[in-house]
Amino acid sequence: MGIALASPSRLASLEGRLPTVATLCSHSSLQIFHGARAEQLPTLGLSVGPPPRFYDAFPLARPDRFLSVPKVAELSGTVPALREAGAVLIPHGSFVEYLGPEAFTKLDVPVFGNRAVLGWESDRRKERDWLESAGVSMPNRYESASEVDGPVIVKYYGAKGGKGFFLAKNREALADFRPTGPYVIQEYVLGTRYYMHFFYSPLSDRGYRVGHGSLELLGMDRRDEANIDELYKLGAQEELLKAGIRPTFVVTGNVPVILRESLLGKAFDVGARIIERSIELFGGMVGPFCVEGIMTEELEFKVFEISTRIVAGTNLFISGSPYSDLVAPGLSTGRRIAQELKRAQSEGRLAEVLS
Ligand code: AMP
Repeated sequence: MGIALASPSRLASLEGRLPTVATLCSHSSLQIFHGARAEQLPTLGLSVGPPPRFYDAFPLARPDRFLSVPKVAELSGTVPALREAGAVLIPHGSFVEYLGPEAFTKLDVPVFGNRAVLGWESDRRKERDWLESAGVSMPNRYESASEVDGPVIVKYYGAKGGKGFFLAKNREALADFRPTGPYVIQEYVLGTRYYMHFFYSPLSDRGYRVGHGSLELLGMDRRDEANIDELYKLGAQEELLKAGIRPTFVVTGNVPVILRESLLGKAFDVGARIIERSIELFGGMVGPFCVEGIMTEELEFKVFEISTRIVAGTNLFISGSPYSDLVAPGLSTGRRIAQELKRAQSEGRLAEVLS
């Protein structure tokens, strides 16, 4: 028996019935509903405003029913209806971002995974403490511009992949920097980016064992980021700036990637360390998460960010990935979530995967 994350009262609404897989209609929700449907679980889509019409075009992913509210802030008001429906909320990037991690954490509805993790993800200092104390290599962090001794990336808090980010080649290039909010200055790591989609099951007793459960790798992508990814066409960042354009990292899409097979050991080592430390710090991170980092030419993997829930890059692999196909043919992260829910319920272990 693993760690109980949810109290019996939190789980009372699921007593004696199949859980209804519920999430906000956005981000990776089509994949989540599609996976739930494949596992014969009922589905419920939350929408702000009328349900998106284009969901009608995807009959295998359209949720069984919708619950709509006029404004995001009113999502909290759906709690009684969600409990009534036996809902389990699946957090994804837009759901947590729109509602805010604090409001999301307070919802009195069962949530898939450990909701305590959201507080560690949303605070860049806590996130660094977690990853560094796990023994994961991260880009250097500079306390002030005067310490900078090479190329850096300046990131504002909360501006995920946001417009506020910028690169500076050296300390001199930061001379005119006037921050407009809380920020961090990080070593700019040269190498190739990889976004690794993991799934941690505290229930599984086979496979790559970590803690009481096991770690799976279900896919990998790289993000297309406007306008920086096209920078090479202009030759250098200065060219963009000369043209009066600030380089940004706004995500516009995703492309599938794979790692050299010999590097998979490193990938699993990083994933396992992050899970083991999460168990010590806050009872463990359960379900999907994404480790985002850069493989350098010395083949060192430096992690700049972790997403502690399903990421949109998994949408590439609704019918399986080169990794998930080696776990079970055609397995998506959305379907894996539904499988974990079903297993937890049939074994009377919902408290270990819900919070
Ligand atoms: P983040 O909000 O931390 O996920 O960063 C957004 C984007 O900035 C990433 O997807 C990378 O393209 C880039 N990036 C972030 N940190 C670094 C770093 N230390 N070195 C190089 N590129 C980075």
